[in-house]
Amino acid sequence: MKYVLVTGGVVSGLGKGVTASSIGLLLQACGLRVTSIKIDPYLNTDAGTMSPFEHGEVFVLDDGGEVDLDLGNYERFLDSTLTRDNNLTTGKIYQSVIDKERKGDYLGRTVQVVPHITDAIQEWIERVANVPVDGKDGPPDVCVIELGGTIGDIESMPFIEALGQFSYKVGPGNFCLVHVSLVPVLSVVGEQKTKPTQHSVRGLRSLGLTPNILACRSTKALEDNVKTKLSQFCHVPEENIVTLYDVPNIWHVPLLLRDQKAHEAILKELNLLGKAVEADVTEWTARTKIYDTLQDPVRIAMVGKYTGLTDSYLSVLKALLHASVACHKKLVVDWVAASDLEEITAQETPDVHKAAWDLLKGADGILVPGGFGDRGVQGKILATKYARENQVPFLGICLGMQLAVVEFARSILGFEDANSTEFEPETPSPCVIFMPEGSTTHMGGTMRLGSRRTYFQVPDCKSAKLYGNAKFVDERHRHRYEVNPDMIQEIENAGLSFVGKDETGRRMEIVELQNHPYFVGVQFHPEFKSRPGKPSALFLGLIAAASGCLEAVLQASGKVSKVSTTRVANGAATGKVYQNGNVYSNGNGLHH
Ligand code: GLN
Repeated sequence: MKYVLVTGGVVSGLGKGVTASSIGLLLQACGLRVTSIKIDPYLNTDAGTMSPFEHGEVFVLDDGGEVDLDLGNYERFLDSTLTRDNNLTTGKIYQSVIDKERKGDYLGRTVQVVPHITDAIQEWIERVANVPVDGKDGPPDVCVIELGGTIGDIESMPFIEALGQFSYKVGPGNFCLVHVSLVPVLSVVGEQKTKPTQHSVRGLRSLGLTPNILACRSTKALEDNVKTKLSQFCHVPEENIVTLYDVPNIWHVPLLLRDQKAHEAILKELNLLGKAVEADVTEWTARTKIYDTLQDPVRIAMVGKYTGLTDSYLSVLKALLHASVACHKKLVVDWVAASDLEEITAQETPDVHKAAWDLLKGADGILVPGGFGDRGVQGKILATKYARENQVPFLGICLGMQLAVVEFARSILGFEDANSTEFEPETPSPCVIFMPEGSTTHMGGTMRLGSRRTYFQVPDCKSAKLYGNAKFVDERHRHRYEVNPDMIQEIENAGLSFVGKDETGRRMEIVELQNHPYFVGVQFHPEFKSRPGKPSALFLGLIAAASGCLEAVLQASGKVSKVSTTRVANGAATGKVYQNGNVYSNGNGLHH
């Protein structure tokens, strides 16, 4: 097993996660099997209890792990399926050591950060690195480890110490340290400054870690003399210094690294030059080119709670992007703060209210994402009603689906007080209710989480077709409430169909409105399994409907089932038709 450790210096937010994912992608392109571990030095056991407003979205894995959003980047770039153990936190490590101490496993010894915590970290890394994440048997060739935070943080000290010991243990030729740093340009003189990087490398060395590769963030490519200086002061060969200069979008980063031969430098450090093949990034490059040249806009209104921080909905945005690129459309996301659509805003700040409605009405499609808590709920309901009544393509995810049912019950069934018991525990018309198996006392890890199977009830519904006429689909969940099974019949009779249910038939997974171009609500989160070249089926449906090509896409995905039903049944809406992430690339004459 070979290890690539990615650390960050100078400031946070340098794109360490994207750099680490891109390195993984490049090594994969060289024919190697790659896994990844993200280390988050915070004390939370997992990201499940962290606010998306503070920390960005909570990413959900197949096994129900609620993890840092960087794992989403890894899964998307490497098309892998990670587990909760691929996200290591201080909380998890301390918990495992304290559990052992309580059991008496330390035989009376004093339990200390060094060696007990540091040993536990190394054991964890070694164990998880050997688990395949690409669906094949046997251990991967390389594990990319990203250490969250910046060198020098108090929180990361035990990890740094453990990784220093680990690099010594696995030995040269098996460990490569990539240090991501910043080379700022002072506008007055326009000079690229190396001092911050020098300092952070010095810090790294003083902690027992030696960088093999420097990846320097800067606005432009590093000048030759700057590289020479960095090489001298940081003791890193010039050919091992790459610049991550500003690019139009993150799909360029692997290409940027490839162009500067970063993969060759890494392969050399890891003694893998003999095993690796020439990096093949043809498909990735083609898709990036398409992305760069898109002109024709498709406008999607995102009616959410956290509109200030786009990281709160990162996977939803990525899924929209994957689908847009596949449809050759330039994605424009209009952020609509749900509460701005509400009547109370009309009274308090009419301008804000009007602006929000103008945005919503100008959109080609409306998306109501998942969420918790009652802020903006009424606004989301109004947006859903607007989409339903005005034939605007609509996708409601998790809370978005639950509210679509509430809105329908209020407007069509005439239950004016219909609600979810999450927002109105005593409502006389509870169309969304707390799931019987949930916990009311513990927030962490107690939801219905991870991959669950949905069985299609109606073969010719739009969602079944989009999933390639699959009989079932596995998607990821994260919820406490569900549609009230006792109200299903009434709702269905009025025209909102539950076309996907779980294996018991009591839990509603997908709703579709009859006589509407595209009105779909899902209890699960399809965004987590969307990939650049394999857009999520239901996002593809939304974008296609919003750009007037849903029929073509439905016909194309119908054909997918004939060539690759198994993949589709696994939940990845993909197949030969979507090669290069392009719905129209299979030469079936659908190009328009
Ligand atoms: N709050 C809702 C529930 O717990 C929806 C959750 C979500 O959108 N992820 O069921």
